[in-house]
Amino acid sequence: MLKEFPADLHVHTCLSPCAEDEMVPPNILNMARLMGIKILGVADHNSAKNLPAMVEASCGFDGLILPGIEVQTREEVHVLCYFESLKVAMEFQDFIYEHLPPKKNDPRRLGRQYLVDKMGNVTGEEERLLIASADLSVDEVAEKVFDFGGIFIPAHVERMSFGIIGQLGFIPEDMKVHAVEFSKNVSVDEARYRFPDIFAKYPVVFSSDAHCLKDMVFKKTYFLLEEPTFEEVKRAFKGWGGRMVVLKDKF
Ligand SMILES: [Zn+2]
Ligand SMILES: [Zn+2]
Repeated sequence: MLKEFPADLHVHTCLSPCAEDEMVPPNILNMARLMGIKILGVADHNSAKNLPAMVEASCGFDGLILPGIEVQTREEVHVLCYFESLKVAMEFQDFIYEHLPPKKNDPRRLGRQYLVDKMGNVTGEEERLLIASADLSVDEVAEKVFDFGGIFIPAHVERMSFGIIGQLGFIPEDMKVHAVEFSKNVSVDEARYRFPDIFAKYPVVFSSDAHCLKDMVFKKTYFLLEEPTFEEVKRAFKGWGGRMVVLKDKF
């Protein structure tokens, strides 16, 4: 039997320099519980280093955590990459790290990149500059994500900054994607009206892109699945056996 599972596929932790210090695993999970989220994607900029703490903290969370990374490509496009397990996400991070510029973060100018444990205690800081473009094209990242058996979703496509349409002007015809993400800045109706071609061609998700807890007060995307698992989410993107993404503007 298929059931609807509320989802928010795009939340940052305090590892992202632009995210608030409060974005630690226990707070994120409590907020997800309050919002009734059953599928939670966690994706920091170009790094997976807080995912082990996130996954550890989620023991007891009644839902699915999708370990992800929001990669910034050479074209300054943000793309969301999710993996079936923490292990694969960490391997993918190693690949991305090989392609980041060898620069250090400037915490005073860009913000701190906190590493935390499952309780949210700071255990260190990532010194590598995460707010940077990897030396990889959108296509190269997509290809790698598919090689890793992951899920590939261009992020906040309607945004002029770091959205694929804003940066490239279009979504390349032959690009393989599982879905396309719109940000919380646009309503479902407005996005449908402005981008009918995208809605006709791709599954669409709306995510909070939360950088602070109050941004997580957001729920528009539901997955119709048998159970919240990585494979079932993939099946929903393919429309397999009635599984699908359901969009709602009100909750
Ligand atoms: Zn982004
Ligand atoms: Zn983001």
